[in-house]
Amino acid sequence: MPRRSCTFVAACLLAAALSGCTGIGFHDSDTRAKLDFGAPDSVALCVYIDKGISEREARELIADAWSQEGRLYGLSIDVVKVVPWKRRGFMMDGIMETITRQPLTAPCDRVMALVNRHLGDIAWNLLQLPEILGAVNDDTLTHGYTVARRASLNQVFESPADVARHEIYHMLGCDEHFNIGRCYAQIAMLKRFKQTRGDTFFPAWDSINKRIVATRAEVNARLFGADAQALSALPREH
Ligand SMILES: [Zn+2]
Repeated sequence: MPRRSCTFVAACLLAAALSGCTGIGFHDSDTRAKLDFGAPDSVALCVYIDKGISEREARELIADAWSQEGRLYGLSIDVVKVVPWKRRGFMMDGIMETITRQPLTAPCDRVMALVNRHLGDIAWNLLQLPEILGAVNDDTLTHGYTVARRASLNQVFESPADVARHEIYHMLGCDEHFNIGRCYAQIAMLKRFKQTRGDTFFPAWDSINKRIVATRAEVNARLFGADAQALSALPREH
């Protein structure tokens, strides 16, 4: 299954000390001012917490990641449900497989797992192999994870809140790294789509076919339908 893996680029990290690099791109208030983000709105986030991560910690992490950022778009991320969750595997593939197996059901608009550090991860780090601190599925950009505990040198630079913010941007339709203009336009477009329809569901974005996924039923069909398997098997570039 394809997925949008998210490691920040070194240049962005260095620049982050000087300006507001989101990992999706550099903020540009002129570009943002040209867009109409409409009335205030919210995205309902269901958080799956790995063993050892408390509900309070989960809520604080999401607030750290998004409360300031959300003001730019009049779009809050509301944690509507916190579910204890047991992950399988310590690699990205295993984590993504378990999280994308969850159908999207009300009241969740998006699902994010918060992953704790386990013994296997620490061994992995000692071997100095690359690690992936967060990811979101490409098919619908609705399901993802963030490694929520600092343990490696990587996370000195990328705090769990930084990683969660990056994954939230993907979940709001930002499907290209370092293209903040497109990201703003996507957020405004999805918000407008929801508000025009008078819907309660915050629409998703299929980053493979570049189209809106308007309902939870459509998200689930995309994830579990027969077409999903065939499309996922197509080779693509990232
Ligand atoms: Zn990314």
